[in-house]
Amino acid sequence: MVLTRDIGLLKRSILKYGYWLRDTHPSKQFIEVARRYRLNSYLKPFTRCTLCNGVLHKVEKAAIENGLPPVVRSYFDEFWQCQQCHQIYWKGSHYQSIKTKLDLLIKSIS
Ligand SMILES: [Zn+2]
Repeated sequence: MVLTRDIGLLKRSILKYGYWLRDTHPSKQFIEVARRYRLNSYLKPFTRCTLCNGVLHKVEKAAIENGLPPVVRSYFDEFWQCQQCHQIYWKGSHYQSIKTKLDLLIKSIS
């Protein structure tokens, strides 16, 4: 399935499924796609790795703390790890602003 603004790409016979995004703004494209394909009940923020899309699982601090920056080790106790690439995540300074934006986007879908 290809989501694109390139109409020429959608005309290629090799594509089985495609959708032409009407909007040009990424946040509005997110809403457009989520509404069109009724994805609201499938959205699960913060459960996939932003690097490889692997599934994140909660991990004990003791298991990964040796690889953490000292300030992260001092201030955070909850961690998640990608099962595919082993990237570590925590609710750092960006978490709340991302969550606020996502909550607004998800609310605007329904
Ligand atoms: Zn990953």
